[in-house]
Amino acid sequence: MSKFWSEVVHGLTPYVPGEQPKIDGLIKLNTNECPYPPSQSVLDAIAAAGGDALRLYPDPDARVLREAIAAHHGVDSAQVFVGNGSDEVLAHVFMALLRHPAPLLLPDISYSFYPVYARLYGIATDVVPLDAQLRIRVDDYLARPRNGGVVLANPNAPTGVALPLDDIARLLRGNAHSVVVVDEAYVDFGARSALELLADHPNLLVVRTLSKSRALAGLRVGYCIGAPELIEGIVRVKDSFNSYPLDRLALAGATASMRDDAWFNATCARIVASRDRLDAGLRALGFDVLPSAANFVFARHACAGGAQLAAALRERRILVRHFRQPERIADYLRITVGTDAQCDSLLGALSECLRPSV
Ligand SMILES: *Cc1c(COP(=O)(O)O)cnc(C)c1O
Repeated sequence: MSKFWSEVVHGLTPYVPGEQPKIDGLIKLNTNECPYPPSQSVLDAIAAAGGDALRLYPDPDARVLREAIAAHHGVDSAQVFVGNGSDEVLAHVFMALLRHPAPLLLPDISYSFYPVYARLYGIATDVVPLDAQLRIRVDDYLARPRNGGVVLANPNAPTGVALPLDDIARLLRGNAHSVVVVDEAYVDFGARSALELLADHPNLLVVRTLSKSRALAGLRVGYCIGAPELIEGIVRVKDSFNSYPLDRLALAGATASMRDDAWFNATCARIVASRDRLDAGLRALGFDVLPSAANFVFARHACAGGAQLAAALRERRILVRHFRQPERIADYLRITVGTDAQCDSLLGALSECLRPSV
């Protein structure tokens, strides 16, 4: 605390990211990073973008990257906004499109950065509970027509559960008066994207990141796709905040990544195969595993608490994510899909932890 703080700082509850400890031999399955290195084409592009060019500011409009993203998704580059990680994209979206007198609708269990942005920008929220199977129920959102917007993750985090496209279409139709943000951070691992609904729904905004499925969490690049009018509003906020959110290395690496379908498709398929293997291994140990469409699984065991298991794994140098709050998910572990070897180490460690003596 300091007397020099602005008034708003006292009221903030900052997001706490998963830890990044420096421990030798650590198996890190706590922040949904990719276990494989990025594509060589990305590393080459970053190397080529360094050097003398770093004297100069990067392109404030990120035109080449936005065109590569637009080409990948078959949209117009005027429908694409890019930012320093999708976290920054989301922050600008909250400010530009979701700050209205009526409350913003959020699931009670979802990406915990959403309520943090709402507080930072003074946006009232109406928190909508997931159902008993920890699924988003669209009717609960349609029953709250007085809202200033909706934010959902699909697949949801930390559950990994995907919402069928028909449900999203129904939400967009029934909630045409405000923006519906669909955060597709994990969509590349098996859920159906809402992008195909863009043409019919000017209130849809789809948010993506290169951190998970493109192995570029360290480069900090995210984007969103929506109607040009929505993008124009977000650009106005961005240009009132930071003209150059993406540096030259990030622009070059992200552009190369968006053009490398072969690496992308092969890596996603590999992770999906490992996820199915991990899911089966956890079930064999007696875990109850939610159906995941992401690069992580959300699982609990009837005989051991989540905090206890996470601590026992940590002693064996394996990090997973555990959430104490809300109470409803305190017995679950969120486990990132690693390489098959990492998943096997995890399963071995869990089977030790679950022996009766522990
Ligand atoms: C990881 C994650 C993000 C943030 O991704 P960055 O692009 O690395 O900022 C956004 N939303 C969800 C649901 C995530 O899990």
